[in-house]
This record gives sequence, C-alpha cells and structure tokens, in this order.
Amino acid sequence: MTKLLPTSTAGSLPKPSWLAEPEKLWSPWKLDGDVLAEGRHDALRLSLTDQQQAGIDIVSDGEQTRQHFVTTFIEHLSGVDFEKRETVRIRDRYDASVPTVVGAVTRERPVFVDDARFLRSQTDQPIKWALPGPMTMVDTLYDAHYGSREKLAWEFATILNQEAKELQDAGVDIIQFDEPAFNVFFDEVNDWGVAALEKAIEGLTCETAVHVCYGYGIKANTDWKETLGAEWRQYEEIFPKLQASDIDIVSLESQNSHVPIDLIELIRGKKVMVGAIDVATTDIETPAQVADTLRQALQFVDPENLYPSTNCGMAPLPRSVARGKLAALGAGAALLRAELQA
Ligand SMILES: [Zn+2]
Repeated sequence: MTKLLPTSTAGSLPKPSWLAEPEKLWSPWKLDGDVLAEGRHDALRLSLTDQQQAGIDIVSDGEQTRQHFVTTFIEHLSGVDFEKRETVRIRDRYDASVPTVVGAVTRERPVFVDDARFLRSQTDQPIKWALPGPMTMVDTLYDAHYGSREKLAWEFATILNQEAKELQDAGVDIIQFDEPAFNVFFDEVNDWGVAALEKAIEGLTCETAVHVCYGYGIKANTDWKETLGAEWRQYEEIFPKLQASDIDIVSLESQNSHVPIDLIELIRGKKVMVGAIDVATTDIETPAQVADTLRQALQFVDPENLYPSTNCGMAPLPRSVARGKLAALGAGAALLRAELQA
C-alpha cells in the first residue's frame, strides 16, 4: 500500500434482513437456489458500498456469501459429515454442535473463488479475502478419522493453500487467515499451529495476514473475557513465533480491550492491523477515540506498517451501528494521517 494508514475491517459485516435474520451467528438464509445466489451478490455490493462511503481503503466482501466464517468453508469439503453432529467444547470456552470428520478431507472444487472474482469485478481498490485458519477449523469439528489435531490441521493447510492460490489468481491482494484458536491453545500454536499456517501460505506472492482476536461480541466470549483478569497477555505467548514466521500482517484487537499495547513490540517488523473499533458494544467510537488508539500503537509499530482496522467481525451488530463504526474508523484514521503528514 502506498497510502499511509490504509483502513480495512477484520472480517464480517452484518447482512441485510431480507437475506438472513440480523444480529445472529449461523443465521439461516431467507432465500433459496438462484435467488439466493443473486441475493448474496447484491448484499456483497451493498456491503462494498458501505465500506467505500466510510472511506475504507482495503475492501472485502463483508462475508455476505457465507453463513459462518469456519463452517461455510468446511461445508464445501468432502470427508466431513454435516448430518453426523457431536457437541464439543470449542475454543475451550463454549459447547457447540459441530459436524464430524468421517474420512480423508479434500477440496473437490473452489469454495470462494467465484465470489472473489465477483468482488474484483466491482472495484479497483485493493481487496482482502478471509479464510479460516487450519487450527480454528480443527477446533470447530469433531474428528472421527485422523485421531490427531495436528494431522488434520496439516490436511486443512494443504486445502487452504489450494484455495488461497486460486483466490490470488482471481485478483485478491491480501489473504487473511482467521485464527481465534491461537489465543487459546498456546502450546499447539508453538508446536504446529504457526507451521500449519505457513503451509497454508506456501508459494503465495500476494500479501498474507493472520487475524487473532478475542471473538465476536457474543455472550460466551464476553463471559470468557471476564475471566481473563486485568491484563490480557495471550498475545505474548504466540507473537514471538508469528514474528519469526512468513506471515506479512498480524491483525489484533486493541480498542477497549485489556491487551497491553506494548505487546505489539513483539511483532516489530510485521505490518499490524490494529483493532481500533470494539465489536462487543453498540456504542460507536468517535474519530478522536479511534485516532487515540492508533496513536498509542504508533509507539510500537512504524507508521508505514500500521493498518487501522476493527477488533473482529461485525456480523452480529445492527447494520446502522456497523455503518457508524466503519465511518468512525475511516474518519479516525484520516485524523491521524493528517497529523503524521503535517
Ligand atoms: Zn475475530
């Protein structure tokens, strides 16, 4: 990016109420068949317009074509039985009914490539596309075939690499892997999690990002955050390994969080998507608040590596709130940009 402080969102944006019930995760589609396909693309265009009107520089599909950031990808793979569900504890935090891995996992056809091509056709701005990370995929399933989280993660990394290469060829500028599980399973991250992520980005020439957050603003997550104490030091366990990895960009949460901002020093040299928008509250930040969060981060990241962003996805928020937060992000980054260029 040549523009200083290029803004982007960490992930999803709310869907229109005619497409899926709002303010809900895993919200079922309200349309079917060809009408659904057209509706998803219409929603993608609306979401793109919202980002453009807010002055967002690196745009995304707002995840309008997927029901959930992990399960929609998995649905397209063979070897996973969605009828055979088990209740497992995910992110070591809450119980969810998840599908079962019953055989070798493979990707028989591209998952998001047509959608990415559609987004590419709608704008000349840089585009970012999110995929689930291998460890988070493993952590959102019941495995009755591989008998090893590491082995299954490795298979997913191979599949993600195939998808990522085709997304790159479709014109995606930044491919982001969502790894909320990195904030929970530190030993596994250091043993094989980062290695699996590097396998997923092998051979890519576009930029790559990893998003490690404290989750959507849903109750299971806000309850968990209550237990984390006054200082959230989870990043301290994983940043050294990420700093040494081939990943270009690290997306982290900062606004209203108890993450000590100096932990960013541990990834010095990387580009950092600093979350300056809290997704766990409907209060809309002021541009001055956004600029202030970003200004604090500047002590630990060089200005040319600072990418203003949101803490996480905004799918569960009311649309008007998400639009307000996008506008605050764009305006807050513009304030600081003007200061730096004065
Ligand atoms: Zn997130």
